[in-house]
Amino acid sequence: MAANAFQHALKNEGFSICLVESPDIATIGVGEGSTPHLKRFFDNLNINEREWMPSCNATYKNGISFIDWTEHLPENRYFHPFPSIIDRQTAGAFLNNCMARHHGHSVDVNPDHYFLAKTLSANGYGPLTLPGQPSIAMNYAYHFDSNLLGKFLAKKGKDAGVAHIQGKFVKAYNNESGDISHIELQDKRKLHADFFIDATGFASYLLQQHCDVKFDSFESSLFNDSAIALPSEVASPILAETKATALTHGWAWHIPLTNRTGNGYVFSSKYTNFEDAELELRKHLGETNNTVSENTSARHIKMKVGQVKKSWCNNVMAIGLAQGFIEPLEATALHMVMDSIDLFLQTFKNGEYKNSDRSTFNKAVSNRYLGIKDYIVCHYKVNQKAKGEYWTDCRNIEDISDNLKTVLDAWQHKQDITPVLEKLGMLNYYPAISWYCLLAGYGYFSHVTNTKLDNANIGFGQQDKARMQTFLKQRAAQFTLHEDLLRAK
Ligand SMILES: Cc1cc2nc3c(=O)[nH]c(=O)nc-3n(C[C@H](O)[C@H](O)[C@H](O)COP(=O)(O)OP(=O)(O)OC[C@H]3O[C@@H](n4cnc5c(N)ncnc54)[C@H](O)[C@@H]3O)c2cc1C
Repeated sequence: MAANAFQHALKNEGFSICLVESPDIATIGVGEGSTPHLKRFFDNLNINEREWMPSCNATYKNGISFIDWTEHLPENRYFHPFPSIIDRQTAGAFLNNCMARHHGHSVDVNPDHYFLAKTLSANGYGPLTLPGQPSIAMNYAYHFDSNLLGKFLAKKGKDAGVAHIQGKFVKAYNNESGDISHIELQDKRKLHADFFIDATGFASYLLQQHCDVKFDSFESSLFNDSAIALPSEVASPILAETKATALTHGWAWHIPLTNRTGNGYVFSSKYTNFEDAELELRKHLGETNNTVSENTSARHIKMKVGQVKKSWCNNVMAIGLAQGFIEPLEATALHMVMDSIDLFLQTFKNGEYKNSDRSTFNKAVSNRYLGIKDYIVCHYKVNQKAKGEYWTDCRNIEDISDNLKTVLDAWQHKQDITPVLEKLGMLNYYPAISWYCLLAGYGYFSHVTNTKLDNANIGFGQQDKARMQTFLKQRAAQFTLHEDLLRAK
């Protein structure tokens, strides 16, 4: 991604980009979900969905279904949509009902009943309208095979003029100023450059190992440090959503691709081990009708969760897993890659292609990690799971940021959290609707004291819940079925 983006942005500025990749070291091969940033990435490179999606077995993503995270609620699931302009027609009712619920009224606060993205997903629609129907612009993302996406982008990069060298990095050499002057490959080739991007995954050979930049672990507030990946047969129908299901010591992802479903269990090794976690995942897949073929073995993956103290040091910038990783609950890793690329290009250009504005960049990238981290930590901190040491310990997480404490405090004091998020600068990372969906979706309210108001009969004009549902269903009927969209590719 970085090589393509830099080639696109810098080729007319006199830079040439070279990508070094070891044929002996595989990419991590997981990471199949995205945020809407990915669409903007491809749009910027003028790469059409019809070109890249079939090459990567990709599907559309309207949002994420959180299942079994709210077992105290009758529905025990809620949907986190990617907010879209059409939501303005229904979000007011949702927000008003959240306030009414804060004040003890028994109103419907499950976001599932207010957002078009959920209605689309639940009824098998993708995020694009039918030909001939008035267009409704949905904010959407994708699922894809990350190995195939890597290969696709490698070819695109080469076609665009990126030099692609196959070779294994073994050593870096500094010049007198402390910058890296060149790197050496196993076959003794020496590669000189003005600037180096470390995209070597968790190993981070250049930034963390050679430049000795330290890593800040998030383990005191995000416990999950392990994952198991285990694909199952293709889903039928293929829904345009990720499923994130809470399990005993973490959660399982289900990501539908056109040729298989990617599944996995993200968990904490302090509470279980790979063998037991794999048994639990296999049982869960069986119970949810995900067929795993007998010959399919599971992959066991260790995760390093946290961020480097600075992403850009001297003439090296780390990107991707070399730079940091927040566990994949909201599929934000590639989002951070794209944000880092954009911020770097902006800073590098503003600084006249020198290293002068590194600290501005480092602060901005770090704040982004921390902003995303707050949102992810919140899923664990306010969890309402009844049983189990893991979930109890998550509820008791003490290491939470002042920002997150302020937001939760405002929520508990029945305030509108939108101005609070705005004042704290947190809307740069997640919009207010996402925070409301999370907290209301979790049913994170005090007890109902007044049951006089029921259904969504405030906020949406004078219309009742049934009329809200009719509105959403009518709009959804303007959309193309997800499987038809995939067949059209
Ligand atoms: C369980 C899990 C789930 C995830 N889910 C998501 C998700 O849903 N969405 C999302 O956005 N992200 C997700 N991620 C993160 C995502 O996988 C990564 O951000 C993404 O794949 C990019 O990885 P990378 O390129 O930084 O590292 P890698 O994929 O590890 O690639 C490292 C590259 O460096 C090369 N290399 C390494 N050493 C050398 C060497 N000595 N010489 C030459 N080349 C070398 C390798 O050949 C390889 O090409 C997930 C991660 C995990 C662990």
